[in-house]
Amino acid sequence: MMQQYLRIKSRHPDVLLFYRMGDFYELFYEDARRAAALLDITLTTRGQSAGQPIPMAGVPVHSYESYLARLVRKGESVAICEQLGDPAKSKGPVEREVVRIVTPGTVTDAALLDERHDTLVAAVASDGERFGLAWLDLAAGRFTVLEERGRAALAAELERLKPAELLVSEGDGLTEPRRGTALRTRPPWHFELASASRLLTDQLGTLDLKGFGADELPLAIGAAGALLQYVRDTQKTALPHIRGLTVEERSDALAIDAATRRNLELDESLTGREDATLFALLDQCVTAMGSRQLRRWLNRPLTDQDGLRQRYQALTTLIEARRFEVLREQLRSVGDIERILSRVALRSARPRDLTQLRTSLSVLPALKETLATLDSPLLSSLSGRIGEHGEVIELLRRAIADEPSTFLRDGGVIAPGFDPDLDELRQIATHTDEFLLDLERRERERTGIAGLKLGYNRVQGFFIEISRKDAERVPKDYLRRQTVKSAERFITTELKTFEDRVLGARERSLAREKEIYEEILTQLTDHLGPLQSTAVALSELDALGALSERACTLQWSEPQLIADPALDITGGRHPVVERFAADAFVPNDLKLDAARRMLVITGPNMGGKSTYMRQTAIIVILAHLGSFVPAECASIGPIDRIFTRIGAADDLAGGRSTFMVEMTEAANILNNATAQSLILMDEIGRGTSTFDGLSLAWAMAHHIATRLKSFTLFATHYFELTTLTTEVDGCANVHLDATEHGDGIVFLHAVKEGPANRSYGLQVAQLAGVPREVIGQARRYLEALESQRDQREGAEGAGRAGHAQKELPLFAPPEPPPADPLREALAALDPDELTPRAALDALYRLRRLLD
Ligand code: ADP
Repeated sequence: MMQQYLRIKSRHPDVLLFYRMGDFYELFYEDARRAAALLDITLTTRGQSAGQPIPMAGVPVHSYESYLARLVRKGESVAICEQLGDPAKSKGPVEREVVRIVTPGTVTDAALLDERHDTLVAAVASDGERFGLAWLDLAAGRFTVLEERGRAALAAELERLKPAELLVSEGDGLTEPRRGTALRTRPPWHFELASASRLLTDQLGTLDLKGFGADELPLAIGAAGALLQYVRDTQKTALPHIRGLTVEERSDALAIDAATRRNLELDESLTGREDATLFALLDQCVTAMGSRQLRRWLNRPLTDQDGLRQRYQALTTLIEARRFEVLREQLRSVGDIERILSRVALRSARPRDLTQLRTSLSVLPALKETLATLDSPLLSSLSGRIGEHGEVIELLRRAIADEPSTFLRDGGVIAPGFDPDLDELRQIATHTDEFLLDLERRERERTGIAGLKLGYNRVQGFFIEISRKDAERVPKDYLRRQTVKSAERFITTELKTFEDRVLGARERSLAREKEIYEEILTQLTDHLGPLQSTAVALSELDALGALSERACTLQWSEPQLIADPALDITGGRHPVVERFAADAFVPNDLKLDAARRMLVITGPNMGGKSTYMRQTAIIVILAHLGSFVPAECASIGPIDRIFTRIGAADDLAGGRSTFMVEMTEAANILNNATAQSLILMDEIGRGTSTFDGLSLAWAMAHHIATRLKSFTLFATHYFELTTLTTEVDGCANVHLDATEHGDGIVFLHAVKEGPANRSYGLQVAQLAGVPREVIGQARRYLEALESQRDQREGAEGAGRAGHAQKELPLFAPPEPPPADPLREALAALDPDELTPRAALDALYRLRRLLD
């Protein structure tokens, strides 16, 4: 047996091998040690090898799923090795084989999946510069690829998709490990274009990949091929539900980089609180597949304005007279048919999956009736994609029992009346006891032997047992079968005939049930395409239902998408802060357009600067997923990307300091933002010394304002930056207000035009519980600093008699070097505005340049 074990194990060196032995899956050697540690199960030994005991650990077959779930969640893959032959009949160890490999990214069993998250396996191929990414949701049959350039873009995609497993080619240098994703190395030839294309066309049943728009994407195809190979290797079954390949275009979606996704807490909060995310607020879906659809929408906001307007229109229709309520009520009876269909395709669907499918499909006619009353192109098109599936419902109604047992092996799954052979077998099996009791009674009467008993054993079969002392009285037609200690055992012709019929009736009925069940799965597989479309349409419908409920309950309004570059929000709110805030949330306006592209935001800590910035991004994202937005009204022009540099967290795992993280994120923004991007910069430069930080913040703001011209919200505690508005066009100051109350502070959270007039740092510190003595001392320092500054300013002011008194900051911002000195000097010679003084200035500057 150990030889057989080692032979099988040698083919699966990198995964844990669950080796079936009767009622247990056993693990040996290193596998046993690992599993024992990961699962906290007992490590024992069994037998010896080279004089050493062999370590062993095991899990019971009847409850193995929970162990499997824990291992898979920890990123382990497990090969399930089953006994195939009959142990009673085989010489030596029974035949065994690995029937499937369960891996974190390819699980499809309901017990191992998270209901409201997609579970993905992804693969990446790169040529050092560009990369191709392919990902598959095996539990839904959704297969997607994209191709793009650069490390940051790859990180952004991986942060969006959060694959449970990522396949990379040996020697791939582009991919950095991320938490929650198990990296698997695959041989480089799995990623080769030719073999990958062949594998894909074979799977998709097409001649080439042109129809999917993928023939121009060699890296994406390579990745998709490697991925498909992996899934085939691990599932060891056909994958009929993978029927297409979607190509994602970068320009179809709002790009959100990895840091931004985390900072905005779209579907994961920075603190790990599940309920404090935008997704948690949005997700009112009544089906699990609707939730997953909504999460995909949120994670990939679209740029197609017409498509988005269609969603708004659908929401308006649903909100009117709260029609979404009827729809959602009907959707409540719909199960997770997307995943059920995949299990049907993989032939692992359980009986209850089929009853759920039956119940779900039965509501479709009523649902379509509801949709027919709604005047919305999008809802009508969804209704068109939802089929009636009469044939499938009919099959499931006739074939599957009303309440089948959980496992097929327990029988009682196929409905009575569906198959005459099965009915007969069942009839026999269930009427055995009745018949035997009846026979026993009749034989007692006939023979007059009160102690006559009917019995059964595996060797002899059925028999009539009579104690030795009554043996003389047995009738002539009794045939002796066996003599035991104090009794004789007989058989009669009637009993023998019965035995022939009954023996094995139960086994045969179970075998027949299995046969019929397999046949039903095959028939369902023939309907897979239309059933999958129905599932997708139902998911989208549910997601729209949830968005309309939210819009109604939270009083959100329909955004206007416009063609001009502008962002005009009246009464905007941060929906998550609003939900958790103890006090009423203060709505704020925001106005950005071609002539006003950057806002420098000042105000005390805790004043609401980051909330204001985040809510702007969240409103933009919500609008681009087709949702209404938390604002009185919002007009939104085209946006291509959202960048944020918010908050500070050490990337200890990555070995980067806070400041390094800050600068890496800033570099990404400065290198990639365009005039259509929305940038949020919060407290840039905080991670280093004051002068360094201020100089960097100044130079970055200047660069964005003059070169990139992106829509920018730039919150800062460097008051000096408020003078930027006089330096560059398109830049304005706003501030968050606070007032002093006694020696405390009251935050008003209202955004006002102009710079803040003071910073309230000491009041905030006091609010935070910094001891009074320390606050007192700080106040004395502050007064000293302020009086020093006043003296200095007084001296400078006196030296510049006649000049208007200007409040000078403690630190004068460095003059940024002019972009092109010659051009600037020439620009100053604007004939419309030329004063003698300006002309002299310009000529002087020109001369210096020529010198
Ligand atoms: P800052 O970035 O200026 O330090 P935050 O944006 O983090 O301030 O806001 C601090 C707290 O103030 C938030 O956690 C929230 O509770 C509250 N807050 C912020 N903005 C508002 C608002 N508009 N209305 C009500 N409360 C707000």
